[in-house]
Amino acid sequence: MKPKARARRRAGDRTRRLKTPPTKMTSARANRVLDILEAAHPDATCALHYRTPWELLAATILSAQCTDERVNKVTPALFERYPTPAEMARAVPAELQDIIRSTGFFNAKAKSLIGCATGLVEAHGGDVPQSLDALVKLPGVGRKTASVVLGHTYGIAEGIAVDTHVLRVANRIGLARGEEAGKVEEQLMKLIPRERWIRTTDLLIFHGRRICDARRPACGRCPVFALCAWESKQAWAATGTS
Ligand code: SF4
Repeated sequence: MKPKARARRRAGDRTRRLKTPPTKMTSARANRVLDILEAAHPDATCALHYRTPWELLAATILSAQCTDERVNKVTPALFERYPTPAEMARAVPAELQDIIRSTGFFNAKAKSLIGCATGLVEAHGGDVPQSLDALVKLPGVGRKTASVVLGHTYGIAEGIAVDTHVLRVANRIGLARGEEAGKVEEQLMKLIPRERWIRTTDLLIFHGRRICDARRPACGRCPVFALCAWESKQAWAATGTS
């Protein structure tokens, strides 16, 4: 073998040796990750303000493409004007749009709120149903919204709400692989015991907001660093969002 070829081969061997083989994620490992996140973020909870299932449902609809802080600024006036689905079902669209304007996409959100409230009044006597199948039939309500409402207001775990933080953090840690929320949710549901499903969403969201930021993850102060499968994690990266 020529000297240059030998050098190339040696370099290739070294690169292969340096590569860390991907660690297989198991239920036990996922539980360890969640135990650590639970200890790190004991205050993780739904950041939206609400008093009733209806209020959480409406607030979650408003939170699409909007921060929870912004939604929390809007909902006091919204729920004073429309305290129940019956009142919301009779809302004048222009008036409702004015109240929710600052949350963005206010035309579509007003339509969803009125449609959802009408569905609740017509099919459920004005109550928020306690099943995912019934919830996702309502206008403006997808699996994510339904899981949030079921989990936080009724303590029912029928799915794992996957938002942008859950999607990113689950992929980085190696709890799931993929860009589609539905597929990631399926993988998480297989891996994580049902009694942890509701907390899983809250913990991954809080971790994503506080440490595993989209652009500047603070790997250097991350409690799950040793278990994280992300190839780009960097022990020295001590920056973060809070
Ligand atoms: S080690 Fe870095 S990438 Fe992995 S979960 Fe922690 S902050 Fe996110």
